[in-house]
Formats: sequence, C-alpha cells, structure tokens
Amino acid sequence: MKLTRGKITELVNEPGCEHNHSHAGQPNKKACKQQAQPGAAQGGCAFDGASIALVPITDAAHLVHGPIACSGNSWGSRGSLSSGPVTYKTGFTTDLTENDIIFGGEKRLYQAIAQIVKHHQPAAVFVYSTCVTALIGDDLDAVCEAAAQKFGKPVIPVHAAGFVGSKNLGNRLAGEALLDHVVGTAEPEYTTPYDINLIGEYNIAGEMWNVIPLLEKVGIRVLSKITGDARYQEICYAHRAKLNVMICSKALINMARKMEEKYGIPFIEESFYGIDDMNRCLRNIAEKFGDPALKQRVEKLIASENAALDQKLAPYRSRLKGKRVVLYTGGVKSWSIISAAKDLGIEVVATSTKKSTEEDKARIKQLLGKDGITIEKGSPQELLKVIEQTGADLLIAGGRNQYTALKARVPFLDINQERHHAYAGYEGMIEMAKELEEALYSPIWEQLRTPAPWETGKGEQSPVTSDQLTVTS
Ligand code: SF4
Repeated sequence: MKLTRGKITELVNEPGCEHNHSHAGQPNKKACKQQAQPGAAQGGCAFDGASIALVPITDAAHLVHGPIACSGNSWGSRGSLSSGPVTYKTGFTTDLTENDIIFGGEKRLYQAIAQIVKHHQPAAVFVYSTCVTALIGDDLDAVCEAAAQKFGKPVIPVHAAGFVGSKNLGNRLAGEALLDHVVGTAEPEYTTPYDINLIGEYNIAGEMWNVIPLLEKVGIRVLSKITGDARYQEICYAHRAKLNVMICSKALINMARKMEEKYGIPFIEESFYGIDDMNRCLRNIAEKFGDPALKQRVEKLIASENAALDQKLAPYRSRLKGKRVVLYTGGVKSWSIISAAKDLGIEVVATSTKKSTEEDKARIKQLLGKDGITIEKGSPQELLKVIEQTGADLLIAGGRNQYTALKARVPFLDINQERHHAYAGYEGMIEMAKELEEALYSPIWEQLRTPAPWETGKGEQSPVTSDQLTVTS
C-alpha cells in the first residue's frame, strides 16, 4: 500500500465511522476532515497508533525504521499479554544515524531484517515507517519485498509515519497493512459454522482470557484474534470467519467494513465490560448466527454465570453501593465502564467524551442521566474542578491522571492500557469490584483527609522556655 494523500483522505472519511455521518441535517464534523496540525501528535502519533494495533501479534518481530526515539515512544507502553511467544516484547529499531539520513536508510533496513530473521526466527517481520524515513523517501515496499523473497518470510511494510495524523488514523493504517498483506494469505486447517474474529481487542492484562472460555463453552470458536495474543498465521486466515466482533469500534472499523465488502463477513460492535454488556454481547453473537440451539446454550450460560456472579459480588456491592465516581477515559470505555459501575451500585457522576463517536455520546447521555456531566477536555485543572463540584469518591482514569487524584485526595483506579488487572467478562467484574473496594477503603484516605495539627491548632506546641531545658554535662 502506498501512503498517498488519497489514501489518508479515504481513511479519515471512513464511512463506517459515526463521526462522518451527518446528523439531523447537520453536515459532518469538520474535525474529521482536517489534516494533522503541528503538535497534533501529542498523545500518540499515527506510528504509535499503528504499533498499538499490530504489536500484540506475539510471534512477529516489529521493526521500527527510524531514529531510536520513535521506538522508545511506543515500546512497552501497552499491557498486551501473550499465552506463548514473546518475540513481540523485543523492541527492534534500525536506529538511524545522520549518515543514514543523508545517504538513505534502505541498506540498513535490509541488514536489520536479515539480522532479525537470523537471530530471532519470527513468524513475520512488520516494518514501520516513521517521520524521518518517510521524509527522506526510503522505499519501504521495495526493501520489504526483496527481504521477503530472500529470507522466505513475510515482511510487511506499515506506512504510518507519525506526521500523517492521529493515533486513531494509525490504527486504521495498521488495518490496511493487514488487509493488503496478511488477511487471505493462508487457509485454516478446518472451519466451523461458529467461527468469529475479535477485532480491536488487544488482550490488555489478559482480558481476552476471561471471554474466550465463555465463547468456547457455547461452541463459538475465535478463529482470529486481531490482534491481542495473536499468532501471525491466524490473521492470515481471518477471511474464513463467519462474523467479525469489533471491540473498539473506532480503532479498526475500516478493517471490519472492508472485510464485509470483500469477504462478505458481517460485523457487530460489542463491549466486554459489565454484566449487562457481556450478556448482550453473547446474545448478539448468537442472534447473528440465528441458531436456536446456540441461543439456548447462551441463555443457559448467562443464567448460570449471572447467578454465580451475584453471589460473589454481594459482599462488594454492599460496600460500593452509592459511591460516586468521575470517569475519564476514551472511546468505547467512556460508556462501557459506566455500565460496569452501575452493575456494582456505583454512580458515575461525570465522564469524558474525548475520542467518543456520536453513537458513544448518545449511549453516554442515556447511561449518565440528566444530571451527569460530560468532560470534553480533561486537563488536570478541569478534572479537579469536576471532582470538587460533584463530591466524587473516586477517579477512574488513565495512569497519568493518578497525580490529579492524589491532589484531590481521592482514590484512583487505572483503567487504561497500562493497567495490570483484567476487567473484561464476568471474572473481570469481580476483579474490578475488588480493586474498587481496595482503593476506596484504603486507610490512607482517612489519614490524608485529616487536617494536620498545625491546621486545627490542636497539636500546636507552645514555645520552649529556657527554664524547661535540662542541661547535661
Ligand atoms: S513517528 Fe514521528 S511523531 Fe511519531 S514518534 Fe517518531 S518522530 Fe515522533
């Protein structure tokens, strides 16, 4: 795939994205049509987005063609876990020097691929362009093709230089790379009538492992995981699935839509967070297959899982009931976590609409009720104001906001990609309840909120006079 202006415009105007639909006669959002502005890469450039979407392919090597800092920008920042190979955990970079930038980095790239293949024997090599290598005009496609032929391994160019746009655009460019070079290049050993792909689920903290056993129990097979805990080979035969289940709609919507066009695979968008959403997800998958026996198995599973969960959650619910939280996260989590919190008796008093689609926003409004606050931009000052205004008991947000919570003297729960706890599925609800309870009832908050002695005057010491001093010799 050549990264042309036309390609970028096509991806930015992705028809599957709600942002690009006109609403009630209103024209599309202008923001979606705008090209990246200087500084727009703050919080994740397109390269970062592409690596987020592809690095979870565990048996592949991911080679960043550019200065070492690009690699450092994204390496190790996501908690995607593997049940086997760990090749994806090694950060590979061509680490370009000034000489390479002047004379071109193609030779160095070819040598790097050769070295990786020789020493690491990956299932495939993904080669990421960056701002510098895109600007000096290195021919990534030609080098990757030559290396693939020479070493007999798939070498996939990923054209997502940081300057082309946002992290979200980078996700879509990664999807394009998979569609152009990977999907449809192999056949599975066998297929079943209930084969599905999971798209946009990255197995953060092992979340997918809470869900796959549930699907297996009712006879649904996950043919390809795109891309959490994936092996390269399984993505090659993703075109044989009967249904695509998207877990974060905006990230790889282009991939789901194009697979529907090209291979006739329908797609649905689901969430694994919260009891209701997990129930709905299972029911919707069964509904799509339209098999009454499958629907019955799903209902039976939901009934037994929900009954067991009710018992396990009872002690947590009594301690969490009525607590008020401010939620600051992005995309689909801004509404799916509200639903999970409600299941525990917690009230979400404010949530962010950052990176949310129009559909996400509609769901947020419905779940929050009329008094709920939506936060468009979450600077620390804004968050502190909302916490104070709402009298919230807890902040649920990404890791970098934990200091804002500490300033407000409220407990904090990490919900973003760096987290170490899996909150998806029914098992995830217990984990979330446990984490919330521990955060809210930690004894540190009582100590922290008690005024210091010098603030109350109670512990004030009167000055020591000379006759109170004992002199020892
Ligand atoms: S690709 Fe460009 S924007 Fe992204 S980290 Fe590298 S230099 Fe920065």
